[in-house]
Amino acid sequence: MEQDYDVVIVGGGPAGLAAGLYAARARRRTVLLEKGVIGGQISLTERVENYPGVEAIGGFDLAQNMLRQAESCGLETHYKAVLGLERLDALWQVRTNDGDYRAKAVIITSGADYNRLEVPGEERLTGRGVSYCATCDAPFFAGQEVAVVGGGDSALDEGMFAARHVAKVYLIHRRDELRASRILQERVLADPKFEFVWNTVITEVLGEEQVTGVRLRHLPTGEERVLPVAGVFVFIGQHPNTAYLRSLVSTDEGGHILVNEWMETDEPGLFAAGDARHNSARQVATSVGDGATAAIAAERYISSRFPVE
Ligand code: NAP
Repeated sequence: MEQDYDVVIVGGGPAGLAAGLYAARARRRTVLLEKGVIGGQISLTERVENYPGVEAIGGFDLAQNMLRQAESCGLETHYKAVLGLERLDALWQVRTNDGDYRAKAVIITSGADYNRLEVPGEERLTGRGVSYCATCDAPFFAGQEVAVVGGGDSALDEGMFAARHVAKVYLIHRRDELRASRILQERVLADPKFEFVWNTVITEVLGEEQVTGVRLRHLPTGEERVLPVAGVFVFIGQHPNTAYLRSLVSTDEGGHILVNEWMETDEPGLFAAGDARHNSARQVATSVGDGATAAIAAERYISSRFPVE
């Protein structure tokens, strides 16, 4: 069974929710398709302190607020995984794991997923001590010692959450300088629960049934050693969730969709916003702006391409 909409939005993070709010308020029949959790990465963020007008809020709550606001304006939300997208004359056909949708315009806001270390033991021990979400899993390691990998905002933000539960956090970073924002750096450097392991990478995650430690390599000397830890939290960047439409639109080498300043792809009626697009600043505030821009552009496209019905 096919369902007809004016606008289909693929992905329910901040960009998708903002696009949904704008498209619904333009009185376009709009559905947002989400395969996992509304909010995407933000729903796993402990505290958001840099969204203007909101001094501090849990990421999950912020996403729920956005959803409630958009749904109150008429946005529909369906929990389905999008498998592909095809042009169907003037319309777009969106294939999901549970039926197809037809739309005049599609806005891709499918975001990004965390990168893996790709070292022995990581995959086997995922869910058994290896995690990509401290906000979800750190309470399981109460009183134990854990490793957090990465030097960006995610590593520090999630590391600080972990530190509230665990006895000690070893922050393992491949350089001797953090990439994260200064304010997060100041907090982490002042937290006695953190010990920094600079210029170092993990070469193996150790353990049979559960993580028992990590093998480390100090990059300047090549020296290896084992650090006993009960958990490993990995935050080494992200990759866009765009594999399902890569042959359809132009992307950069990393798979981020190329768009102009109106979030238009090179395919008429197809827009991309947020972390899935090239050159995103990857902030909630910028993703929301992207989503709003894409919805305004989609509205203009629909008005010009499909005049009055
Ligand atoms: P990111 O800024 O790209 O940082 C990734 C970190 O992982 C870098 O320190 C990088 O090292 C390291 N890394 C990359 N590949 C690695 C590998 N193979 N082995 C070991 N280390 C590796 O990613 P992110 O922290 O996930 O942040 C993504 C975006 O979300 C950023 O724009 C960030 O500002 C935003 N964000 C913001 C907040 C906030 O509170 N404002 C919270 C979370 C995320 P190098 O530094 O050496 O490259």
